[in-house]
Amino acid sequence: MDPIHSDVTIIGAGPAGLCLARALSGAGLRIVLVERLPEDALRAPAFDGREIALTHRSRTLMQRLDLWRRLPVDEIHPLRHAHVFNGDSPHAMRIAADSTGRDSLGFLVPNHEIRRVAFEAALDSNDVTLLASAKVVRIERHADRAEVHLDDGRRIVSRLLVAADSRFSETRRAAGISTRMFDFGRSMLVCRVTQQEPHHDTAWEWFDHAQTLALLPLGRATPHGHRASVVLTLPAPRMREVQALDDEGFARDIAQRFHGRLGRIESVGERHVYPLVGTYADRFVAERLALIGDAAVGMHPVTAHGFNLGLLGVERLADEVLAAAASGADIGAGALLARFDRGHRRATLPLYLATRGIVGLFTDDRWPARRLRAGLLRASEALTPFKRLLAATLADEGRPGRRRGRVAQAGD
Ligand SMILES: Cc1cc2nc3c(=O)[nH]c(=O)nc-3n(C[C@H](O)[C@H](O)[C@H](O)COP(=O)(O)OP(=O)(O)OC[C@H]3O[C@@H](n4cnc5c(N)ncnc54)[C@H](O)[C@@H]3O)c2cc1C
Repeated sequence: MDPIHSDVTIIGAGPAGLCLARALSGAGLRIVLVERLPEDALRAPAFDGREIALTHRSRTLMQRLDLWRRLPVDEIHPLRHAHVFNGDSPHAMRIAADSTGRDSLGFLVPNHEIRRVAFEAALDSNDVTLLASAKVVRIERHADRAEVHLDDGRRIVSRLLVAADSRFSETRRAAGISTRMFDFGRSMLVCRVTQQEPHHDTAWEWFDHAQTLALLPLGRATPHGHRASVVLTLPAPRMREVQALDDEGFARDIAQRFHGRLGRIESVGERHVYPLVGTYADRFVAERLALIGDAAVGMHPVTAHGFNLGLLGVERLADEVLAAAASGADIGAGALLARFDRGHRRATLPLYLATRGIVGLFTDDRWPARRLRAGLLRASEALTPFKRLLAATLADEGRPGRRRGRVAQAGD
């Protein structure tokens, strides 16, 4: 069988892989996406309970990739305020969008809609070929090319291979890249609800004793109540008890966990549970290979930055590849990959470590940690410049003077 020749092969057609395919298209490169799921599951992804908080920077990139206009308007939910609570303390740290000079801190968009529009946009590009229901059996990397072998005998030969195949990336493992993994020993349940009390477009993060709760506001009220997504984090055995409840029992349980602050829970949707494991690859590149999305950095969702960092990686790698292609240089050269590695590491490591630290401090139920975080939240609440900085970090508007590459400028 003749090999399939491409310039870039991306393994994994999740949000990161699809966005990279779209970002690279239109530059005379042939792009192949290899995905193990069938095409139907990519074209109409099932609801998975995740509401992704997107920064302003991410929205801008999604606009430039022609994704944003494809999202249903009633599935884009502005986030205007964020409140952080600790235990029974009445003090909350309150972060408002107006401290950033904008009317929202960011936007909540369901993950399956991001996947759907990213698929649509990538497949609208005639230089992108999708190989769905594909099983990779071997990867070979040489000085001048990478080869991906599928179980049906097909072979894809390219100048650059990209792993976008989740935080448990098999491509990363096949390349021998070690990865720091941290199992938080907890599970996160996400579920849409309608509640009696209004949410005022405010997200809550509540570090309570032995549980972490969050509430994500989902737009205007319906005749049945106010729509929101509840996020509950518990140790795995206790999560199993919550999963075993029927819908009525679950609604009562959630209302009680929020100490009645949501009023009655009128209805609950599908529940989805995710084990919480953070991952950070020791290298984001190897010969003819780059890692993006969760395959590079798998964040704990508490700071809501996983996909936002994924998009940063897409932007950075696409800028490098497009610049090399435009000048006729090698798009898989070691120097190019090393620059991507350095830049993406600098952009992600501080937030990855900070998130680990926040989770560690805010889920430690011993009294010194409880007192420390109560003090921290009170002090932070009084520090307007700190809160402004936090709001700007949440919104990630892009710092002045930050480098702006080809993807960032396209469509300007
Ligand atoms: C509960 C929860 C809430 C979250 N909230 C936020 C948030 O508010 N903000 C935010 O920015 N991020 C958030 N995230 C993180 C975000 O969902 C992820 O960062 C994002 O989905 C990662 O995209 P990805 O394309 O890298 O990987 P994935 O979404 O994991 O996609 C990987 C793709 O690769 C395919 N694949 C895997 N292995 C292979 C293989 N061997 N061969 C071929 N294909 C393969 C899979 O089928 C899949 O299609 C949240 C995550 C969770 C769990």
